[in-house]
Amino acid sequence: MSERVIPLVDQRMAPLAVPRPARAAAHATPAPGLLHDTLGRPLRDLRISVTDRCNFRCTYCMPKEVFDKDYPYLRHGDLLRFEEIARLAGVFVAQGVRKIRLTGGEPLLRKDIELLVGQLAALRTPEGEPLDLTLTTNGSLLGRKAAALRAAGLQRVTVSLDGLDDAVFRRMNDVDFPVADVLRGIDAAREAGLGPVKVNMVVKRGTNEHEILPMARHFKGSDIVLRFIEYMDVGATNRWRMDEVLPSAEVMQMIHREMPLVPLEPAAPGETAERWAYADGSGEVGFISSVTQAFCRDCNRARLSTEGQLYLCLFASRGYDLRELVRGGASDADIAAALAAIWQGRDDRYSELRASLPPDAGNDRGRRVEMSYIGG
Ligand code: SAM
Ligand code: SF4
Ligand code: SF4
Repeated sequence: MSERVIPLVDQRMAPLAVPRPARAAAHATPAPGLLHDTLGRPLRDLRISVTDRCNFRCTYCMPKEVFDKDYPYLRHGDLLRFEEIARLAGVFVAQGVRKIRLTGGEPLLRKDIELLVGQLAALRTPEGEPLDLTLTTNGSLLGRKAAALRAAGLQRVTVSLDGLDDAVFRRMNDVDFPVADVLRGIDAAREAGLGPVKVNMVVKRGTNEHEILPMARHFKGSDIVLRFIEYMDVGATNRWRMDEVLPSAEVMQMIHREMPLVPLEPAAPGETAERWAYADGSGEVGFISSVTQAFCRDCNRARLSTEGQLYLCLFASRGYDLRELVRGGASDADIAAALAAIWQGRDDRYSELRASLPPDAGNDRGRRVEMSYIGG
C-alpha cells in the first residue's frame, strides 16, 4: 500500500557544492562568532544527527511501510566518525555555535555515543566557556545510558513522549513499546543529573489530543518541562495533512481552562518554544508552533546530517557535503571559510512561506529530507 518515496540514496547523490573560497590563509579565517545570514540571523545552535536508524516507527516520522527492512539506511562507513564530528563541531563553535544537540534517528542506538559526548563536552567557546550540550531521545535506552552520558559531560536531555496511555503510546511508536519504560528512562535521567529534563509531545489531531490534559496533569508540579509540538510537514513520507495539526493556541486554551497559565519571557533569543508558567507556581509548559506561528525570523539553527551534510533548514531538500571536505584533507581554516560562505548565503524561511504555498508544493516536498536523517 505504500506510496514509495524517492529514497534518501537519491538525495545523497546530489549534495550542494560546498563553496570553496580561495584556500584559506590563517588571516582569511572569518573572525569567530560574527557569522550572520542574509536575514541577519546568527549561527548559534548546531543539531547533529548521529544515526538515521531508530528502534521506534513513530507514524509521523518513520512510518513502517516506508522504513521497512529494505529501507536503504546509511552504511557504517558513510557515517561521520566521532573524531570527524568533534572536529567539525569545533569549527562551528569557533564560528559562533554555543549549543549542540545530539539527535537522530535514535541517538542512543549509536554505539559508544558517550565517547562522542565526552569529545564534545571538552570543546570550549572562544571565551573559554563549555557548550550547552544536550540530546533528544525517545527514552527507550535512557535507563541503561543516563549515568554514563552524564559522566561523559552531557548536561541535559529532551525525551519525546506522545501520551501516557499505554495503548495510545504503543500505537504511536508502532513497535509496541510500553510507556512505563520511557517513564523509567525519564526518572533515570533526573536521578543522573541530566535536568531540567524536557518532554516533547507531538500532538496529532485525531490521534493523541485526549492525552494532552493527562500529560499536563502528570508533569505539573514536577521539575520536568512539558512541551507540545505541532505536527509538522517535515519529510516526505508521513502523509502530513493540515487537518491533523492541532494548533498550539487550542492546546494552550485546553490546559488554561483547567490549569491557568501566565506567559513567560523567552529564556534565549531564537528559542523554539513559547513558554508559559502555571499561575499557581507549579512549573511551566512550552508550545512549539512551527506550523501556525512560524519562528524563522530568529532561526539560528544549523543541522549536520548523519553522513556530514550541512542543512540550513529542517525543510531543505539538499545539504552541503562537509564530509567530503573533512575526508579530502581540508584544514580547519578551509572548513571555517566554507561554513562562513554557506551561512552568509542562507535565506531559508520555509515555515514563514508555508502558508502562501499551494499544498504539497512547498520546497519540492517529494524530495524533502527526512527528520530521522537530519535530526529534529
Ligand atoms: N528519536 C529521538 C526522539 O524521538 O526524540 C530523536 C530524533 S526525533 C526525529 C526528534 C524530535 O522530532 C522528536 O521529539 C519527535 O517527536 C519530533 N518529530 C518527528 N517527526 C515530527 C513531525 N512530523 N512533526 C513534529 N515533530 C516531529
Ligand atoms: Fe524514532 Fe524519534 Fe522518529 Fe520516533 S520521532 S521514529 S523515536 S526518530
Ligand atoms: Fe528554521 Fe527552517 Fe524551521 Fe524556519 S522552517 S524555523 S528556517 S528550520
